[in-house]
Amino acid sequence: MKMYPFTRFAPSPTGYLHRGHALSALWVWAAAEKYGYQVHLRIEDHDQSRARPEYIAAIREDLHWLGFQWVHESIQSERNSLYATALENLKTKGLVYACDCSRKYLFESNSINEAGEVIYLGNCRHKELPFSMESTIRFKTPHTTISWNDLRLGPLSEVPLEQCGDFSLRDSTGQWTYQFAVCVDDIDENIGLVVRGEDLRFSTARQILLMKELGRETPPLYLHHPLILGDSGLKLSKRQRAASLRAERDLEITPEQIFGEICFQTKLTEDSRPISLQNALSLVSKQLDSSF
Ligand code: GLU
Repeated sequence: MKMYPFTRFAPSPTGYLHRGHALSALWVWAAAEKYGYQVHLRIEDHDQSRARPEYIAAIREDLHWLGFQWVHESIQSERNSLYATALENLKTKGLVYACDCSRKYLFESNSINEAGEVIYLGNCRHKELPFSMESTIRFKTPHTTISWNDLRLGPLSEVPLEQCGDFSLRDSTGQWTYQFAVCVDDIDENIGLVVRGEDLRFSTARQILLMKELGRETPPLYLHHPLILGDSGLKLSKRQRAASLRAERDLEITPEQIFGEICFQTKLTEDSRPISLQNALSLVSKQLDSSF
């Protein structure tokens, strides 16, 4: 029995699932089967200003329509006390501080990284501002290099301080950030394998760092999968107005057609003929054989 027996599929209910999610789910379930993990469905609704209940119900329905099953489920908005306790631990260890920098200051006086995030240079680190619900809470990022072996991309390393500086754990509207909630959850939910899109690989070093401070010495294994690009060459996303899976279903497009096309788009097949979920999973699994 593994010490951390779960992997997770963690969509944000800020819109309906689209083909990008279908591809991600394929990689999660294929890796789960190949490496012996069970799948946990995590609804990442930490951003309550964008999450909507109807999207949560739709996530379950759309995943079932595609043919995926999971063993456990959690919803971030029901886990506030867990995040609050984790933050208290970091406060006790002196690893966080309050920040009152304005958005204007953040974007005008700091560099921006390739993902469009502010590299926060620690303007408030030594001010000892009081913690309040209106202050942003930041992590005192140490100057260290984090290395890991991605199951698909091989050895990677990152220096979080240079990449993003002191990143935030809770914002000035009281919402937990993705970086913080995901670490608390990956620990609490015994996640041993994280499978997600390549666009998120830049979050991995800071998550390994933060998880260590939250008490998890051995980070999960990471696997970052390729993305489907839309017509504009950008990642398929809700903001890029990708067609939702349910809109496709209403047009009587089948899961097999969707799997056939996304496998072709990500070079797993040589044509876009419809294929079953089981065959699509085997193709991803085979691809993993030739990875690191
Ligand atoms: N909630 C993120 C998304 O929908 C996934 C985050 C993760 O897997 O770490 O893109």
